Amino acid sequence: MGRHSNISIFVPHIGCPNICSFCNQRTISGCTEAPTPEDVRRICTLAAEQIKYSEDTEIAFFGGSFTAIDKSYSSELLNAARDFVAGFGEKGIFKGIRLSTRPDCIDDNTLDMLKQNGVTAIELGAQSMSNKVLTANNRGHTADDVVKASEMIREYGFELGLQMMVGLYKSTAEDELNTMRKIISISPDTVRIYPTVVLAGTRLAELYMKGEYVLAPFDEIVDLCADMLMEFEAAGIRVIKCGIHASDGVNGERVAGYYHPAFRELCEGRLMRRQMEKALAGFGKCETEFAVNPSCISRAMGHKKENIRYFLQKEITVKVRGDLSVPKLKCKLVNSLEAER
Ligand code: SF4
Repeated sequence: MGRHSNISIFVPHIGCPNICSFCNQRTISGCTEAPTPEDVRRICTLAAEQIKYSEDTEIAFFGGSFTAIDKSYSSELLNAARDFVAGFGEKGIFKGIRLSTRPDCIDDNTLDMLKQNGVTAIELGAQSMSNKVLTANNRGHTADDVVKASEMIREYGFELGLQMMVGLYKSTAEDELNTMRKIISISPDTVRIYPTVVLAGTRLAELYMKGEYVLAPFDEIVDLCADMLMEFEAAGIRVIKCGIHASDGVNGERVAGYYHPAFRELCEGRLMRRQMEKALAGFGKCETEFAVNPSCISRAMGHKKENIRYFLQKEITVKVRGDLSVPKLKCKLVNSLEAER
């Protein structure tokens, strides 16, 4: 088994019935042109030559609302991609096709058509499970639409992914946690957590400039997303993304928000710090050493060693060493020497 990978093909902002408060899709996808079927063939042919583990690779249409696109155009794109899916076309070597869409753009005909064209996974942009937040951000669908569409996707046997956003306009920490709980109750196969990034030219940017959209501190959002990573994982739901796509477009167009090139690592570092804190509860001034999986040493120390500094402020010196027997993202206290105050 190799590592799962996607051949990402971005379908820009076409076919959407409305414009969400945060969306400047052309910026997010870093691409302004709609792909042609020929582009799809070219990208897949190139990927077929380069990718080692094709059986773990999916052709992914991201960036727009795929099932809201004009049907003849979306069929042409799928036809082009289908030839590269194992069991469908002569050149079929990839695992399947993955796409993202809106919860209110799912019906039986659409799901039938996707099934026949080699689609294996559908991701829905749920964004929030609070109708108050969905309305305030002009999503144009309800939380109930997410539940219904998810049930249908499941019934048809597709892999289900749900995407949520954190820190949207009018959303509180409680709304975010409720969204997480409702998503857990739907039990998707995968989740993507997108901290909100305010892009130029969006409604959110306008509200932000007018002072109507006030962002919670970055650190609070890291804490919140760390909680979510933990809860989703405990529920057996794979978080395949935590943070926004690191494209230059986002960097250039960003007005405000929670963008960090290593956002997930920040959250995972926070989870590791919490474990250390728990292990050190009641300790005074001391020197300690934790063993962590070698792949997690930098996360245990924190971004730019922020975890080490955090404990130093409490007069606790933390050293970290690698130990293959410790599971990923876990910390084991191996040594502590309390000093007289
Ligand atoms: S549904 Fe998706 S692509 Fe369409 S406007 Fe909203 S965020 Fe953008």
